[in-house]
Amino acid sequence: MKELLKKLSESCGISGFEENVREIIKDELDGKVDSMETDIMGNVITTHKGVEGKPSVMLASHMDEIGLMVSYIDDEGFIRFVKIGGINDQMLLNQQVYIQTEDGEVPGVIGSKPPHITSAEEAKKIIPYQNMFIDIGANSKEQAEELVSVGDAIVFHTEFRECLNDLVMGKALDNRVGCAVMVEVMKQLDDVDATVYGVGTVQEEVGLKGAKTSAFKLNPDMAIALDVTISGDHPGVKPEDASVKAGKGPVISLADASGRGLITHPMMKKLLIEAAEAADIEYQVEVGDGGTTDATAIHLTREGIATATLSSASRYIHTPTSVVNMKDVEDTVKLIVEFLKRL
Ligand code: ZN
Repeated sequence: MKELLKKLSESCGISGFEENVREIIKDELDGKVDSMETDIMGNVITTHKGVEGKPSVMLASHMDEIGLMVSYIDDEGFIRFVKIGGINDQMLLNQQVYIQTEDGEVPGVIGSKPPHITSAEEAKKIIPYQNMFIDIGANSKEQAEELVSVGDAIVFHTEFRECLNDLVMGKALDNRVGCAVMVEVMKQLDDVDATVYGVGTVQEEVGLKGAKTSAFKLNPDMAIALDVTISGDHPGVKPEDASVKAGKGPVISLADASGRGLITHPMMKKLLIEAAEAADIEYQVEVGDGGTTDATAIHLTREGIATATLSSASRYIHTPTSVVNMKDVEDTVKLIVEFLKRL
């Protein structure tokens, strides 16, 4: 599963540009599900057909990642950009990126002034992203425009690596972790009588868009959004702000965005906890203040859908490098398969 996560993490797909991630999901599940389709929005919908009369369950995993988009190329050939998704400006400086163009990837770096010529006063200030630029080495607007166009996607350049204690680091673990979980679950449904839709959704980071349209189409009896959540186990995070920890098991969210997002359906909460206990999987519960997932859009579809969110606790989400524990990811697969078998 680590190999699959590496492949998904290193592929690029900011919101609206999910095709590479979608292709990996389709390749992985080719011949292993009963049907597979891509809708007009770009969501990939894979289906395990269950027994008549049994419930249907949507597993939604957003394929998009946060990133940048080319907005302007200046006279000197430097590239200006907008942010796609929630990003703090101060983590952008000096990041290596690549620009996804029609003819392939163009490497670049978000440039900045060296400390030698930065005044003490200046060094304390956060530079807004509007004042930043990407250097691709071009010496003129014309030369840059031969390679790059306004509207091209810009992705962080981060290698997937393993570290101690089952932890792995890479970019876009939000939400390639969910994609890897969804793919693995869809491969393990031989003993499951429920109909299961494994959906890779688009444009979650910019407004839960693909979840909204795919849930409407599928109209499932229940749904689980697969995502990551904030791990509170590193310096600078107070336990009361993020209580769950990487390595302590899958996270069942009970509410997010202080209830303005999802308040988990009580039946889903009960069934997930029963499944975790039956399969002897250590799990964590969470009540979140900020942030939400595809579940928020899904549970308000049509007459309402019983929905929950299952996450892996991840350090440093919405930055160019985040960290998760592989055991949490694998246990999330086990928990969902158990949940589905028991329906
Ligand atoms: Zn996410």
